[in-house]
Amino acid sequence: MTSTDASPGADSLSTSPLDAPLATVLAPRTATPLAKAFGIRTVGDLLSHYPRRYARRGELTALDRLPLDENVTIVAEVREVRGRSMKNRRGHILEVSISDGAGILTLTYFNQGWREKELRPGVRGVFAGKVTAYRSALQLAHPDYELFDDDSVALSGAADPDAGKRWSEMPIPIYPATGSLSSWNIAKAIATTLDGLRGVGDAVPAAVREEQGLLAHARALELVHRPQTDSDWRRARDSLRFAEAFVLQAALLQERAIHRASATTARVPRPGGYLERFDGILPFILTADQEEVGDEIAGDIAATAPMNRLVQGEVGSGKTLVALRAMLAVAETGGQSALLAPTEVLAAQHLRSIARTLGPDLSAELMPTLITGQLSAAERRKALLRAVSGQARIVVGTHALLGETVSFYDLGLVVIDEQHRFGVDQREALRLKGATPPHVLVLTATPIPRTVAMTVFGDLDVSVIRELPAGRSGIESFVVPLAEKPGWWNRVWTRMAEELALGRQGFVVCPAIDAKQPEEGEELGDDETPAPLASVGTTLEALRAHPDLAGRRIEALHGRMSSEEKDAVMQAFAAGRIDVLVATTVIEVGVDVPNASTMVVLDAERFGVSQLHQLRGRVGRGSVPGLCLLVTNAAEESLGRQRVDAVAATLDGFELAQADLELRREGDVLGGLQSGGRSSLRLLRVAKDGDIIADARRAVQGILDVDPAFADHPDLREAVARRLDESEREYLNKA
Ligand code: ADP
Ligand code: MG
Repeated sequence: MTSTDASPGADSLSTSPLDAPLATVLAPRTATPLAKAFGIRTVGDLLSHYPRRYARRGELTALDRLPLDENVTIVAEVREVRGRSMKNRRGHILEVSISDGAGILTLTYFNQGWREKELRPGVRGVFAGKVTAYRSALQLAHPDYELFDDDSVALSGAADPDAGKRWSEMPIPIYPATGSLSSWNIAKAIATTLDGLRGVGDAVPAAVREEQGLLAHARALELVHRPQTDSDWRRARDSLRFAEAFVLQAALLQERAIHRASATTARVPRPGGYLERFDGILPFILTADQEEVGDEIAGDIAATAPMNRLVQGEVGSGKTLVALRAMLAVAETGGQSALLAPTEVLAAQHLRSIARTLGPDLSAELMPTLITGQLSAAERRKALLRAVSGQARIVVGTHALLGETVSFYDLGLVVIDEQHRFGVDQREALRLKGATPPHVLVLTATPIPRTVAMTVFGDLDVSVIRELPAGRSGIESFVVPLAEKPGWWNRVWTRMAEELALGRQGFVVCPAIDAKQPEEGEELGDDETPAPLASVGTTLEALRAHPDLAGRRIEALHGRMSSEEKDAVMQAFAAGRIDVLVATTVIEVGVDVPNASTMVVLDAERFGVSQLHQLRGRVGRGSVPGLCLLVTNAAEESLGRQRVDAVAATLDGFELAQADLELRREGDVLGGLQSGGRSSLRLLRVAKDGDIIADARRAVQGILDVDPAFADHPDLREAVARRLDESEREYLNKA
């Protein structure tokens, strides 16, 4: 695979000037801090350190006419600099007086004393920030600035009015900077690098650029960093954004092609075999979506190219059933399947429900076997033996399945439940356990908008199960806004008591285990003030003491309990021996108790959209209608409250996923992929750039169809290698 030869040595093989180490074009005193602060190592790294924004010199404001509360850009000279410690708070304050000859303004910086070295009296520059009033004097707090070197002073307005006008129309790039590395210094390093840059190739072929109306890469780099006008950098960014999508899709689609190029065993079901027998005993008919996705999978595994497919579908849409049918097809050819679940509880539950669904005869023949970290030594030995001998046609487990001691006789299919909890390398570890590469099926209950799927799972084929099996009674969702209706608190428990009186069960989900400790994986919005969280401990006590719930059996379930304890509680709940489960999000995934009708989520604004949606999916699974009460203290206009409202407003997971994408900050959507490392996306935004991603994917596919190794596209090949190399470095840095 390409990624293995994209190790550090590959840099030196590349002919692209973008792969040249930064030290070959910049002095160490510039190159070293860039590497330290941003991981910038090559010319390409530096040139893709794009401006965060552009200051608009055209809107220069005179100092004697400053509008309060507005963003201004001013050309001025530093007059006086005073640093001092603050009296009331701990910290240092730097006050800088600047003047444009007509007025005087104070800049303040907290705990940034180092700026004193730059902002020396007599230095001129452009200062941009928001005007505030402090003790009736106007000031700029923490403004961005760029100081002029001697050449640009000559160009500035004061020296020559015409040059000044030209100069004032030029956008000033403002770079992500650090205390020791200013935007201005970065701009200089980039300018030096651009001046010496020759022979930059284009990953996006000319024909595609023409079709999309894009600039050549070298031109785009020039204009994004040294624009003469606003339209320069806009065009440059559009071109670079497309190129980014293009290279990403090239990497993903090539990865997909490489997987498909390896040969595996075709799994074709026989008449009268396991699958046919199973379909014969199934007490219901498959939904149209299950049929369709089932056919897609059957087609995939009947081929010698390994399947690599993602199935998305709401909780309860019957994904596991579809996967089980694929396992039966594999079992018929003598092959084995491994089902990987994210937790012990879920693995155990999968095993039980598979055995139940298969019925006694098929179960006896297929020997569904559990492998988790919790098995006793004797159980484990037995389970491992069944796996390696091929007796167990279906093996269910947790991460323990990935361990070195686990081997299979003929692993034909790997099913991964709840993809988002498993990394690519884990997928890879299981893949390696087959004699030939197994078919891979990934199940996820998190509906993923198409553009995100293309970006994050772009190497997988995607199937969607939209339709829920008939006979579900539906779920009603309500927001309980305590900020506006404090009296509704008691009505929540009265309503729950009514449900329990009908013989049904309920969940109460809290964001924390104890009074102070947030549960792992909890999603906190920045905009929330830290208020005491509803905890399992205090809620359990409160409910046990609540008059409406007198005599009800109420128990706790959370991540700090041992697997045995959790399993025991879950089983007691499933068997109806517990009425109300007070839990953290450990119950989020997969738990299946058809008699549960009520889901109360406390501090609902603390959870993400998809988490709330998944939690709601725990109820209304059987013939009893579900009731979901989302209790929140959040103010009506807060982001957290908007998430809660969005979930209450629809049951359509795909609609919610889109809403989620729009409400979330981008970084959260892609997790590590986009969270600021070198290999992360720079200009591409999955929430907004769906069309670009789709166009790029189509264009890449067109090329891949005729030139699968990108043999005739050396620049694209290099760009893909560069990307893989970045992710590899990223990975090594983390390890
Ligand atoms: P998922 O894995 O998508 O959450 P499951 O496959 O576990 O869904 O199915 C949820 C429940 O619905 C199971 O009890 C399953 O037996 C049942 N089920 C699956 N498909 C159908 C169907 N077509 N009609 C009725 N019930 C179904
Ligand atoms: Mg499932």
